[in-house]
Amino acid sequence: MPAPAGAKKMKNQYKTIRDIKDWSGKRALLREDFNTPQDKSGNITDDSRIQAALPTLKFLTDAKAKVIIMSHLGRPKGKVSAEFSLKPVAERLQKVMPGVKVHFQSEAGPDTWASQLESLADGEILLLENMRFFVGEEANDPDFAKQLAALGDVFVNDAFGTAHRAHASTEGVGHHLPVKVAGLLMEAEIEALSSVLNTDEPLTAIIGGSKVSTKITVLENLLDKVRYLVIGGGMVFTFLKAEGIETGTSLVEDDYVDLAAKLLKKAKASSTVTLILPDDLVVADKFDADADTQTVDADLIPDGWMGLDIGPNSIRRLQAILEKSPHVLWNGPLGVFEMPKFAKGTKAIAKTIADLTAKGRCESVLGGGDTVAAIEQLGLAHADFTHVSTGGGASLEYLEGKTLPGIAILDKQ
Ligand code: AMP
Repeated sequence: MPAPAGAKKMKNQYKTIRDIKDWSGKRALLREDFNTPQDKSGNITDDSRIQAALPTLKFLTDAKAKVIIMSHLGRPKGKVSAEFSLKPVAERLQKVMPGVKVHFQSEAGPDTWASQLESLADGEILLLENMRFFVGEEANDPDFAKQLAALGDVFVNDAFGTAHRAHASTEGVGHHLPVKVAGLLMEAEIEALSSVLNTDEPLTAIIGGSKVSTKITVLENLLDKVRYLVIGGGMVFTFLKAEGIETGTSLVEDDYVDLAAKLLKKAKASSTVTLILPDDLVVADKFDADADTQTVDADLIPDGWMGLDIGPNSIRRLQAILEKSPHVLWNGPLGVFEMPKFAKGTKAIAKTIADLTAKGRCESVLGGGDTVAAIEQLGLAHADFTHVSTGGGASLEYLEGKTLPGIAILDKQ
């Protein structure tokens, strides 16, 4: 779904594969994030990361580059292990790109990589075995990075999902190659996230999920950038406690109550941002799909009950805010969406954002693994939103205002 007319598109400040005019015969050393979920027999259960890489792969193979792909899968911790082999990914890649020859280099070691490269024709793909089979990868060992760099003419980083890690194949390799450019997925991620963060029109950020501890830096960074900062999910209760409200048996991070109080104080003193906590909640007598439930005002949580979703008044208030928000950033579910009794808040807000996006009234950028899982469970498509980020940890760090090493290494325009 494209951004609405009037939404100002941020110009990507990094060079991309489009900036290289002649790829023919050039070796594109491409980092992708093919960390695809698999079942116990090694069958890929979700190939969305492979699908997300296709625009870059199509571009490079159509342009007759020799494409050498590096990726990781799981956490083999520097040891070769069949369980973490990328072979199933190579097979799936061949299926989804039937017109392109996909080779797989299973031999573990840079010495054998070079020989297979000799037989790689222009417009073909060679997927290297799991980078994390090598200790040099996560250690960002310069010698290992140099060996990788010898396989390519240009470093292409398309792995936004791993861009927050300075590993040999995501960052180190870039120090040994003269040209470093973004792939099309990386470009789309940077454009979407930077456009929403740098807009001079009102931005509403909805930050949910379970814990304040993992999102506190995001909240702090967003406070100066947004018109409305909406807190949802399990984080709500640390904030309610900071307001002196009884939270029953709800999830509270006691170590973060002071930080939550500081953030509330800062928001109250600010003339530009309104921090929104739920007005009402769906509470349960236990953390269970069949728990007894009731809807209560947020400051009247009964003793022994826990808040597991936002209530109908909170949904209506949030919908009214979304109606007047040309830009929306959403990270983290608003309740325990995995259980139907506590999925209503997340569902209503997801539908509202999708509707407003379809009408061209808002630019919607979603991030975080659980947000993506929530919209998929609700039957919504990624295309129902302006942009759905493929990077959980990476998008969080981006929203924290950090410079991601896998992006910083790229050549600037
Ligand atoms: P995160 O990974 O931090 O984005 O958190 C996502 C998880 O937060 C989901 O599994 C939700 O079930 C959970 N969650 C959302 N609301 C609540 C809540 N009120 N209490 C406990 N967990 C919650």
